[in-house]
Amino acid sequence: MRRAASAQPEGRDAVTAFVALGANLGDAVNTVRAALVALGQVPGVRLVRSSSLYRTAPVNSTGPDYINAVAKVTTVLTAPALLGALQVIENGAGRERPYRNAPRTLDLDLLLYGFACVASPTLTVPHPRMMERAFVLVPLAEIAPQRVSTAQLQAVADQAIDALA
Ligand code: ATP
Ligand code: CA
Ligand code: CA
Repeated sequence: MRRAASAQPEGRDAVTAFVALGANLGDAVNTVRAALVALGQVPGVRLVRSSSLYRTAPVNSTGPDYINAVAKVTTVLTAPALLGALQVIENGAGRERPYRNAPRTLDLDLLLYGFACVASPTLTVPHPRMMERAFVLVPLAEIAPQRVSTAQLQAVADQAIDALA
């Protein structure tokens, strides 16, 4: 008998994925730290490594500086199921979307899911704007230098980004 499709099929191989975290409302440092813990507690997700926390000025946005980081996970979840889990964590942190690029308590973006390309109405992987953003590429290069080229880092070198002490 065929097993029904599920978000976490038995025996599914784990995939390495990278998640970008950002916050600029409230206690952003604590929110990002708590989100890293929450990510590692999602059933079917293992937190392998997280980058330093970084401070960046808002890009195409307003409000206080952002705190950013990137996490490496392994997961048996499908990419859409992982995105769903990220959105549950965002909602738990009080995420609201009053308008595009609004300041936010927490933003979790799925950057890479193995080497898969996904293009659905609700999920695009690799994240379509990641290569434009120092606040993504710098922390990603810290924990996965093989996934970011020198040329890609050079292209965003004019964007200020500071690792937190
Ligand atoms: P940006 O995508 O430019 O970083 P944002 O993070 O502020 O902007 P959101 O309002 O958080 O945008 O997300 C809008 C929608 O983007 C989500 O509802 C989700 O369905 C979709 N989306 C598509 N691809 C991804 C992805 N790789 N990671 C997270 N969300 C994605
Ligand atoms: Ca985002
Ligand atoms: Ca997002």
